[in-house]
Amino acid sequence: MPILLIPVETAAGETRVAASPETVKKFISLGCEVVLEKGAGTASGYLDEAYSEAGAELVQPGDNTRWSQADVLLCVQPPSTQALGTLRRGALVVGLLAPYANADLNAALQQSGLSAMALELLPRISRAQSADALSSQANIAGYKAVLLASAALDRYFPMLMTAAGTVQPARVVVLGAGVAGLQAVATARRLGAVVYVSDIRPAVKEQVESLGARFIDPPEMEDKPAEAGGYAKQASDAFLAAQRQQLSDQLAEADVAICTAQVPGRRAPRLISEDMLDRMRPGAVVVDLAVAQGGNCADTVPSTTTDRRGVKLIGANDLPCTVPNHASALYARNLLALLQPMVKDGQFMLDTEDELIAGCLISQDGTIRRSDVLTPGAN
Ligand code: NAD
Repeated sequence: MPILLIPVETAAGETRVAASPETVKKFISLGCEVVLEKGAGTASGYLDEAYSEAGAELVQPGDNTRWSQADVLLCVQPPSTQALGTLRRGALVVGLLAPYANADLNAALQQSGLSAMALELLPRISRAQSADALSSQANIAGYKAVLLASAALDRYFPMLMTAAGTVQPARVVVLGAGVAGLQAVATARRLGAVVYVSDIRPAVKEQVESLGARFIDPPEMEDKPAEAGGYAKQASDAFLAAQRQQLSDQLAEADVAICTAQVPGRRAPRLISEDMLDRMRPGAVVVDLAVAQGGNCADTVPSTTTDRRGVKLIGANDLPCTVPNHASALYARNLLALLQPMVKDGQFMLDTEDELIAGCLISQDGTIRRSDVLTPGAN
């Protein structure tokens, strides 16, 4: 009977948990034993009693015996190197493991002889949608980014006809129309804003327009960034310079900018420079979801709101953690969808021929399979 271990998350500011009582119950019905560290779900609104009722065994956090018996560790963020060292050789770690150029993770997996699946690398094919943790969490980030912006803005979002006169709707510019960006567009539209969107993938124009927003066509240049697997490739410096020039006038008239543009494994494209910020009106708000990857906007600081000449800059790297109940519920379902097909007849089978597993299995029993991602300089 495979033993699944759910730890208390130890990364600073992490409020999510990798299993909900609902998914614990389901794993148990599949023939797994679930061991959960006490308090693991508290910050997400899931109490120990609910896990107990679902059939989980509760243990003290950091119980080395249980760590050394676990077959699979389900986590949100990677545990410390020291904690990974207490797992038995051959155990599988599944989570958002931040694999890009991660030498420490590479070394820890090798030294401890572990297998690991990094959800960031799950192929974006339709069969993988229910397991797509990047999407479930990005959706939340896009939604919450707009709520933060509306709370920080010195104006209304919707157009209003009042006895004291008409209020014009807020003007919102969304940079990047992936999962977070499209949810930001939908949320800002629901609040009544006029929304403009920039992305370098022309395919998103239709999606943006169907949400009632206006698409800013990417600059017409020979060296347009390519795309692969639905992701944008890195744009050249010349392309980004042209894009900034194009966006400068849009931002000068904007009340809010929501920055979600990213290129997996790379520094986020710099789309708002100091000069562009200088042109924004005092009272405007920038929410930068790419801040942990270097930021789409100059001067944004992770987990911090700063005032730059009246423009509020919100470094929003941890928004899913601010909606932990739903973030955990959806993340837990993503893990269940990923692992359910691997539990057969009370055994845990890792089919490395499966495209889904092969894409995100970065290490197998300590042998690194995705050194192209994990090794610094390889990206
Ligand atoms: P992401 O977080 O890597 O990037 C966000 C957006 O930033 C992307 O739309 C990208 O094109 C854009 N971007 C990059 N450089 C930019 C620049 N210089 N200026 C403006 N925008 C820039 O992407 P994501 O949100 O994870 O998703 C990317 C794509 O994958 C989307 O098309 C999404 O629909 C698709 N997807 C497919 C599946 C599936 O089929 N299973 C699941 C999820 C997402």
